[in-house]
Amino acid sequence: MLEEITDNLYMLTLPMPFRLMHVHAFVAVDNEGITLLDTGLNTPETFVRLEESLQKIGKTIHDIKRVFITHYHIDHCGMAGRLQNISGARIHMSEQSRPFILRRDDEEFLFVDRIKDFSLIHGLPEKAIDFISGLLLTFKKAGSSFTIDEFYLPEHRVIVGGKEMQVMPTPGHTHDHVSFYFPQERILLSGDHVLPEITPNLSPDLFAPEFRPLRSYLDSLALMEALPVEKVYPAHGQPFSDLKGRIEAIYDHHRTRKRLTYESVQRGTKTAFVVSQDIFGVDLPEFDQFLALNETYVHLIELIQEGLLREERAAGLIFYSVAP
Ligand SMILES: [Zn+2]
Repeated sequence: MLEEITDNLYMLTLPMPFRLMHVHAFVAVDNEGITLLDTGLNTPETFVRLEESLQKIGKTIHDIKRVFITHYHIDHCGMAGRLQNISGARIHMSEQSRPFILRRDDEEFLFVDRIKDFSLIHGLPEKAIDFISGLLLTFKKAGSSFTIDEFYLPEHRVIVGGKEMQVMPTPGHTHDHVSFYFPQERILLSGDHVLPEITPNLSPDLFAPEFRPLRSYLDSLALMEALPVEKVYPAHGQPFSDLKGRIEAIYDHHRTRKRLTYESVQRGTKTAFVVSQDIFGVDLPEFDQFLALNETYVHLIELIQEGLLREERAAGLIFYSVAP
């Protein structure tokens, strides 16, 4: 499905087999060819949908000259390598994405090891760790590998489809996340940063321990809130207009989550995983256990920064307790 959102700029709805069901990519057309904003998954269904959609506007995959990626998640950049191979498109991405495409000699991926270590030290059960490692490797192999041709610059502005587009770093969901803003049209392509129905999972950058996902997320929401946006096109879900209202609801959500996190630790010293069970329940499937751990962890480290909690290592685990 291809929908024109303004002159020379289209929203493309691509299929996804998992729970979100679809992901949006965007197509900007000008004399030089096509700039694609995100790519969707590397599946035959996505490829066919992309081909058919481009056909409708008299273009082909070979016309794709540039690909701008919001962040290194497989539903956003899975197809990038395949497109790069076919059309020679140049791939643009955040410098923070770089560690995710480092490979070890044995072709296993460094980041899976980091995730295992992180999960272990925070108390995630081994069964869940094995499941997550397997899943992440499957995701990795399902993506087509690519090289990043250009990193975004600070204050990056570019002309796509004959319009000025600003690349805004919006770290939080991931460290490398960017959103795309068209100031003249007052259109925001928010990626996974602001979604209409759900709050994005916030994850630490295991290659950059100084990164504070929640702090960064809230700061980048505040920057976004100040923009005169008329229409938001998220990567998942329907386009919407009330950006400020949505951001307020997200602030609220995190205030509540923070309070619950603190109260859990107040009731007794525990690992991040046990806190997450307190908040999200004990019956989650493995993948959700991992997401819940991430969500909880980002709040715990903020509470430490604020001096309300402290952490201690014992028996290979990290425990959180109320600061004296
Ligand atoms: Zn994502």
